[in-house]
Amino acid sequence: MDVNNKSCYFSLSVLENDWFKEINDGWPGYSINIQVEEILFNGKSDYQDILVFKSKRFGNVLVLNGIIQCIEWDEFAYQEMITHLPMALHPNPQKVLVIGGGDGGVVRELLKYDCVRKVILCEIDQVVLDLCKKHLPSMSSCLDDPRVTINIGDGVEFIKKHPEEFDVIITDSPDPEADAEALFNKSYYTDLKGALKQDGIACSQGLTPYTDLPFIKNLVAQCKDIFPKVGYATGNTPLYAMGTLGYLLFSRIPDIDFTKPLRKFSNSDLERMKLKYYNSDIHAASFVLPNCFRNELQDF
Ligand code: SAM
Repeated sequence: MDVNNKSCYFSLSVLENDWFKEINDGWPGYSINIQVEEILFNGKSDYQDILVFKSKRFGNVLVLNGIIQCIEWDEFAYQEMITHLPMALHPNPQKVLVIGGGDGGVVRELLKYDCVRKVILCEIDQVVLDLCKKHLPSMSSCLDDPRVTINIGDGVEFIKKHPEEFDVIITDSPDPEADAEALFNKSYYTDLKGALKQDGIACSQGLTPYTDLPFIKNLVAQCKDIFPKVGYATGNTPLYAMGTLGYLLFSRIPDIDFTKPLRKFSNSDLERMKLKYYNSDIHAASFVLPNCFRNELQDF
């Protein structure tokens, strides 16, 4: 990782009695505990340690390398924000690329748009896809839609080979560790800009500012050398990431205002699209940051 002042996360998470405890050095002295009803898979792929379990109260949970990726109970908050923030800022998004995202949640949200003709999902790990198809169908069932093409491979390589091809690119990555580390590098963002059309918008998982502020600040500073406009929004994720996750927005248009969605959703749109978190007021408000982050992360 070339932007950090700490090395990538090192997870010490454990399964103890009937509890999963997420422990990692990204937030020392703190642990997320979720009670387990049944272990559905606990093993290794060629790329990572994978745990899928049924929790007592919050549905099924996907954990990669000891770090929670999504929980059925609150996944909508993350999937809706990372998808609809960039989609609402594009006048007519037809071709969309998702890097990572093997659980299918972002693809599910993208397919709610009639204007979307093609979604390419570039996920490095076939085993994640297979497990999510089996155990997280509310997210993954959309992956069989005819508008979706799945590419198994490294997003870092994929993005280099598709110049000026996409209206929207969403990087739905884990935190910066293992193969996801490269998705937080300056070179990745240079290639990402190259893969966007001139009026394209990109959005990436932006970590949690409560624990990762220096990292995010460095990443943003590097991305400002690449994109004329970079933005940072936050949203709630009640059960993980300290309850707050960030979203990085990128555009090649210098005078774009990320706080003003071009596409405003009426109440009937919200109902039709079954949106439980995102709406146009949340869109604007998500760029208003608490004082402890505002000076560091606003007005890029
Ligand atoms: N919502 C999640 C979060 O907040 O951390 C991320 C979800 S999604 C499961 C992340 C996916 O990115 C994983 O399935 C992982 O295998 C995939 N991934 C990691 N590195 C990748 C890379 N270099 N290229 C493509 N996919 C990658």
